[in-house]
Amino acid sequence: MSSAENPDFFPLDAGDLDPADWPGTRAQAHRMLDDVLDYVQGVRERPVWRPIPPAVRASVQEPLPTGAAALEDVHRQFLASVMPYATGNVHPGFMGWVHGGGTVPGVLGEMLAAGINANLGGRDHMPIEVERQITRWMAEVFGFPADAGGIFVTGSSMANFMGVLVARTAALGVQVRRTGLAGHGLTAYASASTHSCVRRAMEMSGLGSDALRVLPVDSRWRMDLGALKEALARDRAAGLKPFLVVGTAGTVDTGAIDPLEDLADLAAAQGLWFHVDGAYGALGMLSPVLAPMLSGIGRADSIAMDFHKWGQVPYDAGFLLVRNADRHREAFASPAAYLRREDRGLAAGHDWPCDFGPDLSRGFRALKTWFTLKVHGTERLGAAIERTCRLARHLQALVEARPELELLAPANLNIVCFRHRGKDPDPLNARIVTDLHESGLAAPSTTTIDGHLAIRAAIVNHRSRAEDVERLVAAVLDAGVRLGSDPVSGNTGS
Ligand SMILES: *Cc1c(COP(=O)(O)O)cnc(C)c1O
Repeated sequence: MSSAENPDFFPLDAGDLDPADWPGTRAQAHRMLDDVLDYVQGVRERPVWRPIPPAVRASVQEPLPTGAAALEDVHRQFLASVMPYATGNVHPGFMGWVHGGGTVPGVLGEMLAAGINANLGGRDHMPIEVERQITRWMAEVFGFPADAGGIFVTGSSMANFMGVLVARTAALGVQVRRTGLAGHGLTAYASASTHSCVRRAMEMSGLGSDALRVLPVDSRWRMDLGALKEALARDRAAGLKPFLVVGTAGTVDTGAIDPLEDLADLAAAQGLWFHVDGAYGALGMLSPVLAPMLSGIGRADSIAMDFHKWGQVPYDAGFLLVRNADRHREAFASPAAYLRREDRGLAAGHDWPCDFGPDLSRGFRALKTWFTLKVHGTERLGAAIERTCRLARHLQALVEARPELELLAPANLNIVCFRHRGKDPDPLNARIVTDLHESGLAAPSTTTIDGHLAIRAAIVNHRSRAEDVERLVAAVLDAGVRLGSDPVSGNTGS
């Protein structure tokens, strides 16, 4: 029986999902906005992070909600079970990994983007113009041509992956998308300090991580150019086809910047694609003090970067910038993209973002970025970025002033790696970091430097101040004493 024969089967007046009570919903929405602003404003009064009690973890493990619930009840559950147990990167004491702090304009931009529910895959609408404008701004920041390709993605893991795909297609020609990679012989080059997502990009692209030459680093954790030249010569002699060199602008472990000018020279001389992983470091270009350290980044063929790290835009807001938009498009556009071009109507507005990446449906990440860039301005954002580097210097000085502590990597940019010198330093420092997390006082992370476990403070949050790094050092020293590893007194008892 069709629905026309049985009108009750698809009732025409079943109602939509909009509020039945608009005034009540509006009042509740205002409370929710106030709550999130209170959360940001009062962040210093709370612990950085707190362990999730088992009852809280279990509290969201409920049956599929088949029936309806009041918005305020769901919000109440969010306030009790989710909000207090977030990552903590809004907090100025969060110095773990490389997480941005978020911005209030970004929060509001995200809300407005959801309100208009824009799909930035394609078609002709102003949200795409906002994204295109951010591409033009980034082309300006990095000295790329005004018609460079650019696209928002989830993060730099995706942007680096896409950078590898663009480079691969540029090296082999667009037919590689049809024929695949069998016997390609392509080889890529990156340093041992390169983020693991570059290896994964090689795996996911079908090139295979065996085709990635991992080069040693010098005493400042930068790619060893001599080793790069030797590897290139060796591979060419073996009949392979070097096609890509990945330089990092701000490595995750130590904040090192590869010799980008030299890499650009070498890539130009040898016909290689020069991709820069500038996930967090690229936006150092917004600081006149830091920009000279990134010299050469503007000569890249493509740059992967995140607005959600040093750019402070709420998650997620990764970005890929490609010097030559034709190369960018060729790696992703469907062959039909040129056939279905309308001049008028909603289906006009080419080029569409869906032709510059793997996603079709795409959210409006550009809006929270646009709000953040416009409301704060690049000068203030650049100053906030620069301040994180000053704080890293301050932290380094505090570490150097204490005999109990040892600096493992000097502050290149905003990252300091150090450790407590107590007995059995690897387990001791791992324990110190876990205890700090659970104390809620500070949240550094760990990494391995020259085979030693290091406490790694990556200062990214625009809210972090001198008192926050001082609290970190004091908490590490306290933990060292509490864990019975005071090397000065020689007391290693428990
Ligand atoms: C964070 C980071 C990545 C990964 O970026 P996501 O946005 O987390 O996907 C890659 N490279 C470097 C240098 C990073 O700092």
